Amino acid sequence: MDRQRVEELMERVERSEKEVLLKPQGELKCGVDLGTAYIVIVVLDKDDNPIACEKQAANVLRDGVVVDYTGALKIVKSLKEKLEQRLGVELYKCAIAMPSGTEGSVKTHQYVAEGAGFEVTNVLDEPSCANAIYKIDDGVIVDIGGGTTGLAILNGGKVVQTEDEPTGGTHLSLVLAGNYGISFEEAEKIKQDYKRHNEILPVVRPVAQKMASIVKKYIDPSNTDTIYLCGGTSCLTGIEGIIEKETGIHTVKPKNPFLVTPTGIAMNC
Ligand code: ATP
Repeated sequence: MDRQRVEELMERVERSEKEVLLKPQGELKCGVDLGTAYIVIVVLDKDDNPIACEKQAANVLRDGVVVDYTGALKIVKSLKEKLEQRLGVELYKCAIAMPSGTEGSVKTHQYVAEGAGFEVTNVLDEPSCANAIYKIDDGVIVDIGGGTTGLAILNGGKVVQTEDEPTGGTHLSLVLAGNYGISFEEAEKIKQDYKRHNEILPVVRPVAQKMASIVKKYIDPSNTDTIYLCGGTSCLTGIEGIIEKETGIHTVKPKNPFLVTPTGIAMNC
């Protein structure tokens, strides 16, 4: 992984949430990421330059499968409209991606994107999308999202094994809420505040260790030299250290791992 390239790209995608980075020209590529905790749309130009991005917290999927079709449709429509307003152009095409083990639910994902007015040009698997950004030949990509911890083992640039188990950021927030006696929403706010990460890490450490044990279960340290993190929960400061300690494998992440997969989805539109 070319660290500098990835850092610069992800920094620009993050910035594209607040400002339109380039005047949209030509056909734009969208990546629609339907997640357990967040729905994200990333817009790139034909040369994969970040243009704009919108995301919204959502509770319309369970274990990677859409359980509230109307709710999901409403959110994707509204994100698409927001982006179109910001950009002053209509968005037509998008790619979507499925978490491992949910390939049977492709149609529902597709109907959500199509119902919102997109033409779906490509359906991918999430780990391959993350690797469109990291460009790893051999190693393990670990995607810690809202509901699950997923991993993809790469060999010669190809995904050869994927695993996905429940335990994600939602579980961290539940533990925080219980510990501080606050609502789930307040816990989410605290958890996403980088200034409070040092304070909350000891509270959520057991959950992070559980995530690390999921990773450890599936990888062989004798032929894995690096774990590459992505997904929103990988933003938690110090989680890379916990995974590295538990697995004994060097673990790295970009400064903002949240938007890696949605950006990789858009690249494949
Ligand atoms: P899944 O992959 O399980 O379907 P998802 O796609 O919704 O879920 P992501 O969008 O990758 O998952 O990540 C969402 C999670 O990341 C949420 O639990 C959210 O609270 C968490 N998160 C977002 N920003 C931060 C942050 N700065 N620090 C810690 N956690 C964060």
